[in-house]
Amino acid sequence: MSLSIDVFNTGYLPINGGPGWDPEPATWPASTATLISGQREAILVDALMTLDEGMRLAAWIGATGKSLTSIVITHGHGDHFFGAGPVLRAFPDARLLALNTTVIEEARFNLGPEVQQNWIGWFGDRFDREPALPQLVESDTLTVDGHPVRLVEVGGADGVLNTVVHIPESDTVCSGDAVYNNIHMWLWNSTPASRRTWLATIDKIADLRPATIIAGHKDPGAPDDEAERQLTQSRSYIEAFDRAVAKLSSAQEVIDEMTGLFPGYGNPYTLFVAAYSQYQN
Ligand SMILES: [Zn+2]
Repeated sequence: MSLSIDVFNTGYLPINGGPGWDPEPATWPASTATLISGQREAILVDALMTLDEGMRLAAWIGATGKSLTSIVITHGHGDHFFGAGPVLRAFPDARLLALNTTVIEEARFNLGPEVQQNWIGWFGDRFDREPALPQLVESDTLTVDGHPVRLVEVGGADGVLNTVVHIPESDTVCSGDAVYNNIHMWLWNSTPASRRTWLATIDKIADLRPATIIAGHKDPGAPDDEAERQLTQSRSYIEAFDRAVAKLSSAQEVIDEMTGLFPGYGNPYTLFVAAYSQYQN
């Protein structure tokens, strides 16, 4: 029996958009957590943001009846591990893991006062202020009922380092935030150099030749999880944003241009903060 791959999608969560954003409530990009399971065991990839999401995630995993052995965090941003508490309480034997010390350091940085202010600004008191930090995994290959699941370091994306989870037997990659599915990409405070790095990271995922990619942020209405479409759209999006910022003189022009090129993409708030971050002194 091969491994099953099931995806929990939070949908768009209303957040506080802050100054300049109106009139509708801002939202956080719809986020995924992926359960890779065999007959008995399971591994979770990423653990969402809010306490409510964490509780719903724990109940969803509980309903499968599988024994959760590990939670793997793809990268150290709060929206991928702050929600782990309720899951760890429901599955006390599960370990919270990351492949690389850089991921753990970024996670620790996300708990520091400076970054916490950002998370509080967006989510208020809806998240765990003292979430568990991931520990370093002892091997880059985990097993689920004997089937191998590989953790792969791919490079910088919206943060300093993104790792992915590769399930070779089903040609599937859980990409964290290196690839997006029909959602505006988190290019807040990105630079020409960080965007080049991100494009190289996407190439590394393509080198794994996946047929399926479960993106860390996925529009609930996205047609599928087809890898090639998402790799192409994520590359095009970063390249288009890079060109738009180079040639246009205001954030609003960048927003208009990107919205025209990528109509219907989820979470316009992401594009708003990304565009305005490029024109601040
Ligand atoms: Zn994210």
